[in-house]
Amino acid sequence: MSVVKLYNTLGRKKEEFQPLKKGRVLMYHCGPTVYWTQHIGNMRGMVMADLVVRTLEYLGYKVKLTRNYTDVGHLTSDEDEGEDKMEKAARRDSLGPEQIAKKYIQIFENDIEELNTRPADFKPRATETILEIIKMVKTLLDKDYAYETDLAVYFDITKAKNYTQLSGQKMEENIQDAGKGDVSDPKKKHPADFAIWFFRAGTHAKAMQYWPSPFKSKLVKNGEGFPGWHIECSAMSKKFLGETIDIHMGGVEHIPVHHTNEIAQSEAANGMKFVKYWLHNEHLTVNNKKMAKSEGTSYALSDIKEKGFEPMALRYFFLQAHYRSKQNFTWEGLGASQIAYEKLKAFMSRINEEQNSHGPNFQFPISNFQLNPKSQTQRRNSKLIDNYQKEFITYISDDFNVPGALAVVWEIIKSDLPYSDKKKLILDFDQVLGLGLDKIKKGKKEVIPAAVEKLVVERELARQNKDWARADDLRNKIYDLGFMLEDTDGKSVVKKK
Ligand SMILES: [Zn+2]
Repeated sequence: MSVVKLYNTLGRKKEEFQPLKKGRVLMYHCGPTVYWTQHIGNMRGMVMADLVVRTLEYLGYKVKLTRNYTDVGHLTSDEDEGEDKMEKAARRDSLGPEQIAKKYIQIFENDIEELNTRPADFKPRATETILEIIKMVKTLLDKDYAYETDLAVYFDITKAKNYTQLSGQKMEENIQDAGKGDVSDPKKKHPADFAIWFFRAGTHAKAMQYWPSPFKSKLVKNGEGFPGWHIECSAMSKKFLGETIDIHMGGVEHIPVHHTNEIAQSEAANGMKFVKYWLHNEHLTVNNKKMAKSEGTSYALSDIKEKGFEPMALRYFFLQAHYRSKQNFTWEGLGASQIAYEKLKAFMSRINEEQNSHGPNFQFPISNFQLNPKSQTQRRNSKLIDNYQKEFITYISDDFNVPGALAVVWEIIKSDLPYSDKKKLILDFDQVLGLGLDKIKKGKKEVIPAAVEKLVVERELARQNKDWARADDLRNKIYDLGFMLEDTDGKSVVKKK
């Protein structure tokens, strides 16, 4: 297994990847809050995580991936302020929160499938993990890391060991950055303390999704309420992957609040390290600006398709920038990706045709058999193949440098290796790139029966002689045999009806 180096946000440097258990990777990826169609910026995050998974699998690791769905508790600000995004969406779409979740999970799953991402092994929903969440909140109360007010159960960040270890921020910066100064609960002890359970009281008195709990508030019966967003990921990660995991990934915006809080709760509740390697992907901008619904730049995959682009062209576009770099989306840029992807497809399709027309054995000339030693060309070719493979692996093992790896594919295409070797290499690399090149068949040619061919020629002659009646008659005969004629640019093309 080759050595993989990855940039760990915890510590802010490239490190050699050492999994907890040899050959196995436990990975958690923060999934979407399913209240709206995810924009292509979120899709970029999904493809970046997919490249991490595919790279590790290509290099021989067994990866267990959990990606959650947040379907309750994510408020309109990432803090404890505002209303539940799910419930706001429910009112907007005149649906229940459950139907909202179903609708947007379906759209999301279709989108990431069209982008050819490998499906997650576990796809838990927060609302299906309530028992585990309540258990974790209770542990935090029992261990005195949390306290109750009448409005919520809060995590006490002053008790956490090294609360800002991930962001490296000073506490004042953290409070300011995350806007935590804005407190609606006067009983909250520290402005950065965050809710791990909201009671169905105060601004959340009308919450649509709530569960009974063992926690105490004078304002509700049976401790009714719902979990905070951050604790959901901690509980789901523990349920499906265990207390300590290898990799946790998400967008850079999660560093100061969401992931900082996940670490604090998980390490306090479990009494051990939560995550060995934190990976964060940068944002996608549109015309060098933050994507925004108000500016009409919050594009979804459906917008991309409506403009006539293939989802795979978008994937190709994403492959061109490193996950830790910002990438700027423009329609011209996507157009260039579509062209590059078309070229790649055309090349694969030509290879397939070439091989078919030469028969299955064409790649093994006589000299390949044992009687003759390998020719000089063959020795040179196997060395070249070896070099390309090494180059590709060097790129992907260096903090998932996929843009570099993609360039190797184009080098191979330009090389003078035999078609069969090019094909083998490119299909092998596509296990990481995920462009679906194994699904490209040679261009389909329709078989036209001889009788039809004859009629087509006769009709052509009739047209040349301006015998329109006979030409029409022949067209009808062709039609009766199950074929159609299309006359374009003075030429006739035959097609099956
Ligand atoms: Zn999360």
